[in-house]
Amino acid sequence: MDETEAKVLELENVKKYFTIEKGFFRKRIGLVKAVDDVSFYVKEKETLGLVGESGCGKTTTGRTIVKIYNPTEGSITFTNRNGDKIRLDKLSNEEFRGMRKDIQMIFQDPYSSLDPRMTILDVIGEPLKYAGMNGKAIEERVKHMMEVVGLEVKHLKRYPHAFSGGQRQRIGIARALVTNPRLIVADEAVSALDVCIQAQILNLMRHLKNEYGLTYLFIAHDLSVVRHISDRVAVMYVGRIVEMSDTDSLFEHPLHPYTEALLSAVPRPVPENRKKRRNRLPGEAANPADPPAGCRFHPRCRYAVQRCRSEIPEWREIQAGRFCACHRAEEIDLMGIRRKN
Ligand code: SF4
Repeated sequence: MDETEAKVLELENVKKYFTIEKGFFRKRIGLVKAVDDVSFYVKEKETLGLVGESGCGKTTTGRTIVKIYNPTEGSITFTNRNGDKIRLDKLSNEEFRGMRKDIQMIFQDPYSSLDPRMTILDVIGEPLKYAGMNGKAIEERVKHMMEVVGLEVKHLKRYPHAFSGGQRQRIGIARALVTNPRLIVADEAVSALDVCIQAQILNLMRHLKNEYGLTYLFIAHDLSVVRHISDRVAVMYVGRIVEMSDTDSLFEHPLHPYTEALLSAVPRPVPENRKKRRNRLPGEAANPADPPAGCRFHPRCRYAVQRCRSEIPEWREIQAGRFCACHRAEEIDLMGIRRKN
């Protein structure tokens, strides 16, 4: 990374473990290593996509950043607009509430993330109340945000049930942006929407990013969606990041066999590509409570060799700005997908 580029968010060796308890005395019988030694950064005004199968730890990572969970270990550093570095992992929940105007989250399900008893004015204006604003000033700001995200201002006093799924997600985006945050953590923000509405919301998010200089951590399982919006992509597998790269390089020339397998599942409309070699993912993702030794992906990897079963692959820079944790990253030639697909 260019040292002059500011990091808005940086995670270093972050772990989030959940204990498994059993019986009346809640005896500890195991640990789910949902996030297991994860490090990455998000630069100012960029979108970092965080992808992986369901249960890989990407949502837990997002929730640990916004303090829904406290990390078990590691540091999470946020740099505010004054350049102050703030260790989010050291803040109390009360102290973090004061950061809310700078760090906002967009949730997956626009249906359940909005309180049905609150009007749109209350829903979008609530973060402003916490930030100390009141009355007419809130209403004016909410009206402005409704216009920005393409909602009709005359619907200010309506309740969420009166809106479609796409409109509800626009409400969620307006609420997230109303305090002029620096960082947005979007967790499966368009997954609950149909494809046409997805495209509209993604285009809106891209537009708002450029307009307001936003920084996104965009968490999703759908690689087509991630490609559409991300500048760089990090791929997670069973609690760890296995590859991180600029978006075009990752999609066209993946370095990790897991990335190749995920890309293989992306629908391709061009007929000749359907005949090409496919690397469908066999089996289930490993159990984060009992991950395999060595490379966690080895039981499902078509390129696995003996070393993969016992030795944890080192996270290293394979090409400039491209990182991967695979013993064979330099020697195997993996298949990606071209931009026009
Ligand atoms: Fe496959 Fe081995 Fe690379 Fe793991 S380290 S992804 S098992 S080749």
